[in-house]
Amino acid sequence: MANQECIFCKIVAGEVPSDIVYQDESVTAFRDINPQAPVHVLVVPNRHIATLADITAEDELLLGHMLRVATQVAEQEKIHTPDRGYRLVLNYGQDGGLLVHHVHLHVLGGRRMGWPPG
Ligand code: 5GP
Ligand code: ZN
Repeated sequence: MANQECIFCKIVAGEVPSDIVYQDESVTAFRDINPQAPVHVLVVPNRHIATLADITAEDELLLGHMLRVATQVAEQEKIHTPDRGYRLVLNYGQDGGLLVHHVHLHVLGGRRMGWPPG
């Protein structure tokens, strides 16, 4: 069920414009409005799930699908190779840097990532 206040629900519904790179019946992938790398795509469930704390056993297939779509997006972006590569990030809570309360998987690539993350 869409959340009326949620920006990502609006993006999924096409009510707010975004650069969608992949969409199916359960997930949507679109470019981050404030990219932190040459490739920065967000993979989100179409259904509103606020945070990682709201994931249940019934969402296990969905979460696995989000991972697969992330690798598919990386392939589309030509970074799914050992010499390129990318990073997948899920933020939670204040220390994690979570801002938007609709679960989203960051796909970051196109430059060398630092470790540990800042
Ligand atoms: P978080 O810190 O919550 O993990 O990341 C939220 C991400 O959503 C940020 O990278 C931010 O730039 C992105 N974002 C926030 N609002 C919008 C928007 O309206 N459109 C798009 N495409 N990305 C957004
Ligand atoms: Zn939402």
